[in-house]
Formats: sequence, C-alpha cells, structure tokens
Amino acid sequence: MNSPFSLGADGIYRCGALEQFIWQKHGFGTRWGSPEADITLRQIHSNHVLNAHSLKDHEGEGDALITNEAGRSIGIRTADCVPILLLDSCHRAVGAVHAGWRGTAAGIVRCAIEKMASDFGSVPADIYAAIGPCIRDCCYEVGVEVAQQFALHFPEWGQVTNSRTVDLAEANRRQMEQAGLKCDRIFDCQLCTACEGKQFFSYRREPENSGRMIAAIGRLV
Ligand SMILES: [Zn+2]
Repeated sequence: MNSPFSLGADGIYRCGALEQFIWQKHGFGTRWGSPEADITLRQIHSNHVLNAHSLKDHEGEGDALITNEAGRSIGIRTADCVPILLLDSCHRAVGAVHAGWRGTAAGIVRCAIEKMASDFGSVPADIYAAIGPCIRDCCYEVGVEVAQQFALHFPEWGQVTNSRTVDLAEANRRQMEQAGLKCDRIFDCQLCTACEGKQFFSYRREPENSGRMIAAIGRLV
C-alpha cells in the first residue's frame, strides 16, 4: 500500500498515515537531516527486541526498540537495511525496527509486534507500520546461501539454486501481514538507498565511507 511520504524542509521523510496521530512524532532521516532519537541500541543484526523503559542511550544490544512512555523517542540506524516504524493507534505504543537480511530472516519485525502485544497489550490489527528508505531489489543481489534463507518468505521462487535479488522490504511486509497487521495499514515509501545516492547513505554503494540514517518515533503525550 502506498501512502504519501513527504520530505520536510528539515531533510526528514514522514509518513502521512502516522502523521494523523497528533500524539506522536516520527521521521526517517536522510544525508541532510535526522530525527531526534533519545534511546538507540548497539545493533547486532539479531531479532532481539528491547523495551526502552529504564534503558540509557546506546546501552542495550538488539535491533528493535518499543516504548509506551511519553517524551522519550526511540531510534535505529540504517544505511541499506530496512527501517520500520510501528504505531499502536489504541495504546499509544510505538516501535522502531532495524531489519537487515539477518534480522529479516530471523523475524525481527514479527518479534517486535509480539513484544508490543505482551508488554503493552497491543492488538496487531491496531498497529500501523511505515517502511522507510532501504536497498530495494533493483540493487540487492545476494548469493545463493543468503537467498535460500528467504525461500520461505517467497514461495513463488520455487527452488533457489543461484544468486538472485531479494526484496527485503516485501519480506518484512509479508511478515507483518502474517503477524496480523492489516495490509492497508502498512505503508512503504518505496525509496531505494542505493539508487538515490544524493539523498541517502548506502553501504553497498560506498562500503568504506557510508554514514547512517536515523529512523525514530516517539510519543509526545
Ligand atoms: Zn535501487
């Protein structure tokens, strides 16, 4: 599902579907602008999800944060990996997910949704999701060993015997649907970090010299 994502004068993309909730602020950064993130993690390409409650910045190890506390934004860093922001429209809970190929294969976004349910009582059907800029299948070819880890996500591939392109954003979108999110509440900006070098850092395009973009979300009240 497409929803207008808009690029602000501050160099930050925002998803219109999340903007309707005036109790939150969120954004996907670019080379030119970053949203504020009070709490971030030491990211390890895992499926570990941490509740930001009582965490200090850069203290926890994992790849997704969730919170229902007002006044503390949570964020993750990406260069080509998939940034996903989650918002529970009933409980005012939010999540920020870093999903590279390892995290995606390990089900990080599904784990984040499950922890929002167990920690905050979130019902998946109430959750909105925004998928930010990441490397797309136009630019993301992987070897056969990595591709095989995604055969479950893409049954239409059949047997994987060669290197091939993988659509990580679509793999995450499917996981979210399987976890119970409504397909019309999952929004994808469709932007490719590797194609759009003027806007985004890309690890694939500039491995020695790639910066990181921040995606963050927080509850204001
Ligand atoms: Zn591309």
